Amino acid sequence: MSNIAFQDYLSDIDVSVDGFREALWPLNKFIHDNPELAFKEYKAHEALARFMGSQNDWKVTTSAYGIETAWIASFDSGGPGPVVSFNAEFDALPNLGHACGHNLIATASLAAGLATAEVMKQHDLPGRVLIFGTPGEEGIGGGKIRLLEAGAYKGVDISLISHPGILNNSPRVRTTAFARIEVEYFGRAAHAANSPWLGVNALDALVVAYNAVSVLRQQTMSTDVIGMSITNGGAAPNIIHAYAAGVCVIRANTASRLKELQQKISACFRAGGEATGARVEIKITPGYLDHVPNRVLAASYTKYWNALPNVPDPPIPSGEQLTLVKASTDQGNISYAMPSVNASFAIPAGPLRGQPHSPEFERSSATKEAFERALRVSKALAGTAIDVLGTPGLLEVIKEQWERDMEAIGE
Ligand SMILES: [Zn+2]
Ligand SMILES: [Zn+2]
Repeated sequence: MSNIAFQDYLSDIDVSVDGFREALWPLNKFIHDNPELAFKEYKAHEALARFMGSQNDWKVTTSAYGIETAWIASFDSGGPGPVVSFNAEFDALPNLGHACGHNLIATASLAAGLATAEVMKQHDLPGRVLIFGTPGEEGIGGGKIRLLEAGAYKGVDISLISHPGILNNSPRVRTTAFARIEVEYFGRAAHAANSPWLGVNALDALVVAYNAVSVLRQQTMSTDVIGMSITNGGAAPNIIHAYAAGVCVIRANTASRLKELQQKISACFRAGGEATGARVEIKITPGYLDHVPNRVLAASYTKYWNALPNVPDPPIPSGEQLTLVKASTDQGNISYAMPSVNASFAIPAGPLRGQPHSPEFERSSATKEAFERALRVSKALAGTAIDVLGTPGLLEVIKEQWERDMEAIGE
């Protein structure tokens, strides 16, 4: 793309997003002030879908793919071309409200999608824009996974999203993969004083397993995280415990490393059963895959971010440097299905420097300054999408990079 085209797109995106500022602020505030839990985001679903439905040339599907609070807004230029998409989150946390700032994610993705469509019209760019209203990201909800599995992303070429925090501005974010492993032991009850030899102690099995997991930690990688708790430690001290249960939450850098870790933990759990004679049952609940950022898309994002005035701190790390975040998101699963960017952006922190999932971050997410940062993000996201739509051959380069990334991760 020539520099003249870039400057042209940049200023058109800038003007377009600024034109939506006044309409988006009350919407952003409404989402923030009406926090709703995963898959119960009825007010947000209605407000966001109605807003998109009121925009020229946009079509909206509510309760998409049978998921009550999922929605899809689409803009079609009429001509065949790339299909670019933005994911909008809007769920909140139990007891904490919008302490993960998902109101800002919704704002950034709506503004980006709207500006992309405007600039496509102005420049006669063929293709389509989709905004997915993706519910239930918190906990193990996996709203995006449900949409992905239902076929919602069929034919979509790229997926863009952002997430607020206080530390980073970066489009090259790697998150961790995680899973939950539950274990149950079934022993045999007996009188602990009278005839303990007749019993099979399920709690002993769990204690052996807990210690085996602790020993395993010495042989793990610095990027592995294993947390374990005992959820049922037996009935009473004067009986041999017939039942005990525990749960592990594990995180790793890649899905393949997570699988290895899963096998090691399962072996520790089986060891408890082997040592005591208790029957063991292991249940693995897949969590989210690690997010793999597409560096070609990230380069576009960086270019627009840095060309906008008043570049905020901290700057986007130079070169190809990745930003590692020890959290997980279902955008990770999207990144295994298509090229993706999940841009981190820093909003002004409160005096305690409260990070996401803290009461202070809930307040930071409500501010006008945070909203302004989300709009800046939306301009860089729209620029990324416009580069894909307006640069012949770029989508192929992006997809080749994605294929190389997938190969490297599978090894
Ligand atoms: Zn969160
Ligand atoms: Zn979040």
